[in-house]
Amino acid sequence: MERRESAQERVSELTDRLASVQAKIDDATARRDQAAGELDTEASSVGKEREVVAASIPADLLKLYDKLREKEGGVGAAKLFQRRCEGCRLELNITELNEVRAAAPDAVVRCENCRRILVRTSESGL
Ligand SMILES: [Zn+2]
Repeated sequence: MERRESAQERVSELTDRLASVQAKIDDATARRDQAAGELDTEASSVGKEREVVAASIPADLLKLYDKLREKEGGVGAAKLFQRRCEGCRLELNITELNEVRAAAPDAVVRCENCRRILVRTSESGL
């Protein structure tokens, strides 16, 4: 009789623990699903923005960018910041800097090391 009561208490205890664990699983699943939904919404929004921007870029430049982006782990263009390519983090040497300085403002210039498109700004150090 005593063993039976003990076993029933154990069953009750384990049933409560199971319910507690299942509640945690349900909560985590709901949070995951909400986060996934938010990411889907953001991806859709960013995708639409990209389409608008891509439509304004010459086709050959966009093709080069997409090719580089695929080859270089998702980064096809990098900022030239303080004489350093933000893509590969290497500083351009003086010859490379002079070539970038001499290039027309609308010319496509690329990093000699990683070949990414370099984006020139007022912070490029030119
Ligand atoms: Zn680079």
